Amino acid sequence: MEEYLMTINGQSVKGVHNFDVINPATEKIIATVPECSDEQLDTAVNAANHSLTAWAQDVTKRRQALNNCAEVLLANIDSLAKLITEEQGKPLRDSNREIRRSAELIMDFAKLEFPVEILQDDKTRRVELHRKPLGVVAAITPWNVPIILATLKFAPALLAGNTVLLKPSPFTPITTLKIGELFQEVFPPGVFNVISGGDRVGANLTLHPGIRKISFTGSVQAGKQVAVAGARDLKRVTLELGGNDPAIVLGDVDPTWIAEKIFEEAFWLCGQVCMTIKRVYAHESVYKSVVSELASLANRTKLGNGMNPETDMGPLNNKPQFDRVIELVEDAKRSGAKMVTGGNPLSGRGYFFPPTIVTDISGGVRLVDEEQFGPALPIIPFKDVDQAIEMANATNYGLGGSVWTKDIELGKQLAVRLDCGTGWVNQHGSVGMYAPFGGVKWSGFGYEFGDWGLDEYFQYQIINSAK
Ligand code: NAD
Repeated sequence: MEEYLMTINGQSVKGVHNFDVINPATEKIIATVPECSDEQLDTAVNAANHSLTAWAQDVTKRRQALNNCAEVLLANIDSLAKLITEEQGKPLRDSNREIRRSAELIMDFAKLEFPVEILQDDKTRRVELHRKPLGVVAAITPWNVPIILATLKFAPALLAGNTVLLKPSPFTPITTLKIGELFQEVFPPGVFNVISGGDRVGANLTLHPGIRKISFTGSVQAGKQVAVAGARDLKRVTLELGGNDPAIVLGDVDPTWIAEKIFEEAFWLCGQVCMTIKRVYAHESVYKSVVSELASLANRTKLGNGMNPETDMGPLNNKPQFDRVIELVEDAKRSGAKMVTGGNPLSGRGYFFPPTIVTDISGGVRLVDEEQFGPALPIIPFKDVDQAIEMANATNYGLGGSVWTKDIELGKQLAVRLDCGTGWVNQHGSVGMYAPFGGVKWSGFGYEFGDWGLDEYFQYQIINSAK
């Protein structure tokens, strides 16, 4: 079995203790990885602090290093994609896309400029805004899209002149550890460190006094703990947390077209994405056709090992998540909900749960109120659109939401009424460097992508000269 190592101060480092990583499609152990000790964490934080001054000197070198990272990812795309599929479960083509997209994002970040801004320049004073790095950044990632989510943190953090300690989820650490090793040739020692371990290591990292910024993507529950940990010595914190995104389908849509789009956006990666559609509110005039179109798409979906090119949908990533989806679906059944498709896990090895279309359900049932993060989608009818908006907003989450209609202007007006960071019209989940992405309410605070994502890794310094 392959052993994966941490990258601390430019060196590959073994664990004093190790833990196993499981392939969710086979439930077989595929790797053993280090559980970072407190001493190793100290060493990594110290190395990252030590390398700060030199790293912050030269932005041209930083851009070059980032472009080299992108090249390294692309040169290793096949082997890295295979690792993602083995530890995460998603189809290999999605893993390939994940590595390619990460390389593109790194190159896009490397191009961003942050010149000194002149805020005022008149007879009395000249005021300049300088952007300076914060220090050592702790980047903590979940198990669903491990490499893109890491990239959205380390690329802007490093471009801004910070140094980084990256900790992936204990369910998907191996691709990130491998990338740490590959990047040893790109960065000076201490600039980019990758440590692995469970939630305790994450918590210790957030509490470490040598860290100045925490960028966290994960659950609301852990996010709240991260906010508290950061508050202890006033670290900056960015929280990209869970979502319970609604999609509101108006009566003027073509149900077949809409169902295809909604199916893609709800069941992508087995529903394990923060910004997938988690609830559908469909106007009563199209409700039945939307349900039957979604059901027919669900019945055609091929579940299987992500290494098989025929596979449309892989397994859930881990046992706790598998158990949670089963629990929410069983709770919905007890409440009287109808499983139009699916509804039970597949027997045999692997955490497979088929796409499940759920009707006869409403708010007040956990599958509607909580983030299921899995392939079970409740479809709820509505009569008037105000009622739909009210139901859509009746949640502590506020990541995204969408409105589906032929009338784009009306769609925009309704999207503005959704309490969420991004309101989409006739699409869901599209993000990119062109817009900030982040949540409101319990979905977190702070932004990723583009200049807004980069700005999370600076502190401003104002230089105010009298004339
Ligand atoms: P999780 O919160 O359990 O874990 C995420 C990471 O945080 C892991 O590396 C974990 O080890 C670490 N961690 C756990 N407790 C911690 C603590 N107290 N202090 C510091 N680190 C800690 O989340 P998960 O189950 O891995 O991921 C699923 C969640 O992530 C879902 O809620 C999903 O919506 C969310 N998510 C959000 C976004 C977004 O951009 N908003 C993107 C992807 C996933």
